[in-house]
Amino acid sequence: MTMQFSILGTSSSGNSALVVTENCKALIDAGFSCKRLCEMLEERGVRPEEIDAIFVTHEHGDHTAGISTFCKRFNPHIYANPLTAKALQPKLKHRPNWKLFTTGSTFQFRDLTVESFSLPHDAHDPVGFTFTSGRDDLFSPIRSVAWLTDLGFAPRHVMERIRAVDLLVVEANHDLELLQNDTKRPWSVKQRISGRHGHLSNQAANDLLNSISKPQWSQVFLAHLSRDCNSSDAVHNAFSDLKESSPYRIDTIMAGGGSSLQNV
Ligand SMILES: [Zn+2]
Ligand SMILES: [Zn+2]
Repeated sequence: MTMQFSILGTSSSGNSALVVTENCKALIDAGFSCKRLCEMLEERGVRPEEIDAIFVTHEHGDHTAGISTFCKRFNPHIYANPLTAKALQPKLKHRPNWKLFTTGSTFQFRDLTVESFSLPHDAHDPVGFTFTSGRDDLFSPIRSVAWLTDLGFAPRHVMERIRAVDLLVVEANHDLELLQNDTKRPWSVKQRISGRHGHLSNQAANDLLNSISKPQWSQVFLAHLSRDCNSSDAVHNAFSDLKESSPYRIDTIMAGGGSSLQNV
């Protein structure tokens, strides 16, 4: 079968996605309550006990809120690098089935090849991932997905890792003007969000997409949008030129939304 992918939800207040291959079902992050994760999975025809593994990008709550209860109930493998596992463990109710990887390494989980790469973000050892699966035949073509959220800027090694995937999820966190004018956040938080270890703005995400020559993407999801500091108008303004000129499709996942389970 072809690899399948769905964003369960993505925004500054919760992130999780589902990857399905012939031999495994895995989550990327689990930043919703266990109850909500179970509902989201069931909406996509997947039972939570079928989840074999969770790949954790970093320890922030919007990526890990459901891990403790989900693991206690369903006991999937938890893939994280040592610093992320160390930061997470004190917040968990029990010791999950940790599988540690080294940042920058490529490893195998069943029929899924997973690549991790370091990201500039204010966590202990944050990573992005690419997931590749398939046998290169008609029934199971080789397909790949990249998950790239929570980064202040995109270093060169990141651009190289994401260029050749079929489906790219990239953060378009905030509109700079909406962030500057936001009255809920103190100046120091605004500095953190827009800094080199914060989050990509719409403009920065747009620049990143434009800067990669001959990308192989057929689809790009704009993700991890801020509820307060981004809007559909702001995203539209930032990406309308690219949407018209690019050979790939660009979809925006607004805060509170997700995407259905689709073939990659
Ligand atoms: Zn986040
Ligand atoms: Zn984060």
